[in-house]
Amino acid sequence: MAPQTLFARFPEHDTHPLHVLTHRLYEAQQRQWPMLQDGVEALKNVRVRTVDCNGFSVRLQFNPKRIVSTGAKVDAAAIRERKCFLCSAHLPAEQQGILVREKFLILCNPMPIFPEHFTIAHVDHIPQSIEESILTFLTMAKELSPRYSVFYNGPKCGASAPDHLHFQASPFGAIPAEKELPSYLRQMKESGGVTVSSAEGYGRSVLVLSGNGEQQMELAFLRLTSAMRRVTGTNDEPMMNVLGSYADGRWTVTVFLRSKHRPDVYFREGEEKVLISPASVDIGGLVVTPMEKDFLRADSSMIESIFHEISIPQDAVQRIVEAL
Ligand SMILES: [Zn+2]
Repeated sequence: MAPQTLFARFPEHDTHPLHVLTHRLYEAQQRQWPMLQDGVEALKNVRVRTVDCNGFSVRLQFNPKRIVSTGAKVDAAAIRERKCFLCSAHLPAEQQGILVREKFLILCNPMPIFPEHFTIAHVDHIPQSIEESILTFLTMAKELSPRYSVFYNGPKCGASAPDHLHFQASPFGAIPAEKELPSYLRQMKESGGVTVSSAEGYGRSVLVLSGNGEQQMELAFLRLTSAMRRVTGTNDEPMMNVLGSYADGRWTVTVFLRSKHRPDVYFREGEEKVLISPASVDIGGLVVTPMEKDFLRADSSMIESIFHEISIPQDAVQRIVEAL
């Protein structure tokens, strides 16, 4: 990594908490990096509207800059041919990051969905996969609290760099599900101090793990992914989007259980095509539409049907809970 890429190391003996350092990185990068300035400026003018659905509502964000991510080709051939934008050797000259335990680099996302939106990239070009890194994910959620939450998009359901391990961070509470979900949850199980709850009437398949022990949370998460594998009959990483936060001494890990990445309408031709490519933020209730026509025409039936189509069926969620 080039020395000029390093904004700070964490932890260091005189270091500030990680959430403070991360906020400082954002402030410094906003002054030094025109591309980020443009991205944050553009965010001030994005249009937002609420769509009321059956039992829940979502926010739509018309954000033309997100076309790069929403429209990204993520098939194996396209990924092989492009230069990986998360490898430190390919970062723009102005971009700096915080090196966490020599393993992960916290970077500002220059095409943000939130005013402060970070990518947390592994220092090596290794595939996107969460199970070996769930402990790091939990540690990051704690160290970035109370200012930020972390999230993860599976390699086949939303990661725009499926070949390079990364998480993201957003301001705590900026993804609507973080605040909405508690009123939809019903506790299904409790084991090793970790509760497992399922969301009812939320239009998506969601399980939430909550507990105050890092190791217990790791174990519970690994039990969950193993149950998902058995029930969905896959050897690969089960398709999921994961939100992680830490408050009042407890972790909350929200798992959206996915059956597919992009809805059928994404692949239609011409006017019928709807450019909505759901990842954590979208399925978390802030649906990004880079095209104005989609922003204007998305209604409750479109949103409900997309969420239904990309989520695993409720009876499978039930079987996963039973298999835990
Ligand atoms: Zn890479």
